Amino acid sequence: MHCLDFSPYAENLKSHLETRGIQSQMSMHPFDLINRQPDNTMSTVIDGKAFAETLRSRIKKAVSELQAKHDIVPGLAVVLVGENSASQIYVRSKARQTAEAGMQSFEHRLPENTSESELVQLVEELNRNPQVNGILVQLPLPAQINSERIINTVNVNKDVDGFHVESTGRLSIGIDSLVPCTPAGCLMLLKQAVGDLTGQHAVIIGRSNIVGKPVAQLLLKEHCTVTIAHSRTRDLPSACRQADIVIAAVGVPEMVKGDWIKPGATVIDVGINRVADNSGKSKLVGDVDYASASEVAGAITPVPGGVGPMTIACLLQNTIIATCRQRQIKLPEAIS
Ligand code: NAD
Repeated sequence: MHCLDFSPYAENLKSHLETRGIQSQMSMHPFDLINRQPDNTMSTVIDGKAFAETLRSRIKKAVSELQAKHDIVPGLAVVLVGENSASQIYVRSKARQTAEAGMQSFEHRLPENTSESELVQLVEELNRNPQVNGILVQLPLPAQINSERIINTVNVNKDVDGFHVESTGRLSIGIDSLVPCTPAGCLMLLKQAVGDLTGQHAVIIGRSNIVGKPVAQLLLKEHCTVTIAHSRTRDLPSACRQADIVIAAVGVPEMVKGDWIKPGATVIDVGINRVADNSGKSKLVGDVDYASASEVAGAITPVPGGVGPMTIACLLQNTIIATCRQRQIKLPEAIS
């Protein structure tokens, strides 16, 4: 049998991709390189977990810098109302990662039957507290509370979630604002994978205020041509096939199939869906059918390990940005 030695090429490629924060899908064994796409390109896995780790270590350095130069320790307050189990997990991770970055973490857990005015009162206290530089109220909130009122009660300068109507408006007209964390994470991964995004056609599936719309604004700012598709879009597969970049933020497990993807396109899967596997155990999948899409895409984020880990890292980064703006000091070098 004749064997080709791909090792030197594989190693070079692997280290090239790794320096760009991208893990080659075939990086473990040189023969994996044979796993080429129909147009002879290779699908690379965009490793959000590794990227987020690097970002968090830069954030930790930035926190030390703020403490050494200005005697400031940024503080992030997270408010959880009720017993939603997914929210409890998110809030726990946020608190842990905030502390690991060397910041102050303030956690407020309120009962499910908390009234809107009680929550407004807590947010107003946090607005006044000088030790709190960032405020995040975990969504969804119980039905008796108007989420919009709560989001807009947060002082816009402490709005590290970037959901305040003023933050949204500033983002939409392209001026300095605190940017929602998941969209900010998507953009970082995209720029790492693609480089300059100018002129790329991005199709975003989903028009939520949390992901779809802010991602669209960020990509417009990067000079992409942006299409926002949603539940009423006609012939979604055809719309997707036009895309150089597909961002799936739908909440429907594995909806986007490989034959919706233009060969070589970059696919960012925001979806986090819990489903049962063949043995009945639960597992996480994205909004993209990874098995078929990774055969066609040029680069793709996995679930888990893609966009997910970026969200908290971006939240920590936003807390530092908010702190520096409040104190009118320059961003630490580690994150500027
Ligand atoms: P959402 O429910 O608010 O919005 C979903 C959007 O998808 C809507 O705009 C809707 O029009 C569109 N949609 C629904 N069904 C569709 C269909 N069949 N065809 C085309 N479009 C359709 O959801 P969201 O908050 O934007 O979240 C989307 C996904 O991203 C979810 O899986 C969520 O868990 C995940 N998410 C992940 C993170 C993260 O940190 N990675 C953060 C936020 C959300």
